[in-house]
Amino acid sequence: MAGNITYTMLKPDAVSANHTGAIIKMIEEAGFRIVAMKMTKMSAETAGKFYEVHKERPFYKDLCAYMSSGHIVPMILEKANAVEDFRTLIGATNPANAAEGTIRKIFAKSIEANAIHGSDSDENALIEGNFFFASVDKF
Ligand code: ADP
Ligand code: MG
Repeated sequence: MAGNITYTMLKPDAVSANHTGAIIKMIEEAGFRIVAMKMTKMSAETAGKFYEVHKERPFYKDLCAYMSSGHIVPMILEKANAVEDFRTLIGATNPANAAEGTIRKIFAKSIEANAIHGSDSDENALIEGNFFFASVDKF
């Protein structure tokens, strides 16, 4: 059965453009409850650990530099069928392919600076949530 937790973070392009409030409003209006949240920054080394699964991809180094270039807003969100419903809300990785009305369609600047992260599985939601917040299962 699908879990009820997902992990997200607003990326540096969205935070620096002052879209934090507008994006959080869309998340809440879509029925997600924020159960953990902070404003923080990653070092390139920390970003490298977070995106370790992509370390063989050609964009990995640029991605780590970009993700450590400014503030991010990590959050844990609760909703039935959270992972899948949140991926639908944010839209495709490349904003050029994202559906109308999705967060990436509205706010992303490029395939790299695409405004927001969303976990791709229940397992990764827990791993990623625990990366930024201690003991996700207490939520
Ligand atoms: P998603 O965030 O939609 O799950 P991926 O897990 O495939 O996408 O990639 C992680 C992040 O790496 C993306 O959100 C985006 O910031 C960046 N990225 C993915 N593909 C590319 C690419 N072809 N060129 C540059 N950056 C990319
Ligand atoms: Mg992904």
